Amino acid sequence: MSAFEPTEATSCVQVVVRVRPMNDKEQKGNTLPVVTASTEKKEVTVIRGAGNRQQRTTYNFDDVLTSFSTQQEVFDTTIAPNILDVLEGFECTMFAYGQTGTGKTHTMEGDLSSENNRGVIPRAAHAIFERLKTEQYVESSVSASYLEIYNEELADLLVDDGKDVKLQICEDTRPRGKGIFVHNLSETIVTSAEDVLRLMQKAQERRRVGETKMNKQSSRSHCLFTLKVHSRKKVDDSGSIMECTGKLHLVDLAGSECAKTAGSENAQKERERKNINQSLLTLGRVISALREGHVQRIPYRDSKLTRLLQESLGGKCKTVIIATISPSVLAVDETLSTLNYAQAAH
Ligand code: ADP
Ligand code: MG
Repeated sequence: MSAFEPTEATSCVQVVVRVRPMNDKEQKGNTLPVVTASTEKKEVTVIRGAGNRQQRTTYNFDDVLTSFSTQQEVFDTTIAPNILDVLEGFECTMFAYGQTGTGKTHTMEGDLSSENNRGVIPRAAHAIFERLKTEQYVESSVSASYLEIYNEELADLLVDDGKDVKLQICEDTRPRGKGIFVHNLSETIVTSAEDVLRLMQKAQERRRVGETKMNKQSSRSHCLFTLKVHSRKKVDDSGSIMECTGKLHLVDLAGSECAKTAGSENAQKERERKNINQSLLTLGRVISALREGHVQRIPYRDSKLTRLLQESLGGKCKTVIIATISPSVLAVDETLSTLNYAQAAH
């Protein structure tokens, strides 16, 4: 199952896998890792069984990050090259997909209080503001929004009573209109990377409170953080100005394991599972349709997440999907399932 065609350099979808280090529990189990990864070969191998019955499955991706990869390397490999595109007025999206506990939030947010361990969102914000400081930019404004999708319902993570405000996906089809947008979703002006850090810290706090109140787990919702960057820059010495608005969407998806195991569950859990199933499957279908160039048949409308991002996926928009996995034998079935999903997108 190993020979895949190399992807064309022109593809608008980049699929990356990140293996996290063994955690304490896995290390105490005293088992060897069952996943080997090579950044150089862009390859991940999963080993199952032992002795003669050992089975090795190798997958190839656009990029592979190992348990030694730093947060900076993750950023450099994924969205860093697209920061300039955002400033040029394009839309870019990055999704983190994987089983709960494999490092999606670590990858996207990371440890906000430690500079080395910060994830993609704070690093992207930092890169955008650094770039906007260069002299060609005569004017700029950046705003952030943060949306949670739980059970196909939307909540604003940047306001205190976000759960009480009814948010709705709308479409403005007028020429030069707003396109698809979320009615009532707040947009907060940010003027520095520190502003973004503060917003995220408050949002994390709100999610914690909300989860305790509603008895729900963060692993069951999708979180979509968006930075909208409007800028005016000098294009040459004649004084001509180019004005553009680009967007960067960074998405921490619901745990992929939440989508599967049907069985003796209560009605609320079953509904959650079905919704997660539907949205992750739809996302996979949208991404593989985009990769294969089937632009006529992209099922954006089959989930809120893809509907919302419809104008940000495909065309000239760059999409990165990072699939996170554990190296441990304890997670091997979920690991294979995540790699198969990522491969289908690849
Ligand atoms: P998820 O969001 O997928 O459920 P988390 O990001 O919360 O998973 O990660 C689970 C735990 O593993 C966290 O304590 C996190 O700090 C740690 N972790 C995940 N990935 C890494 C990594 N690459 N290096 C170090 N620790 C990691
Ligand atoms: Mg998480």
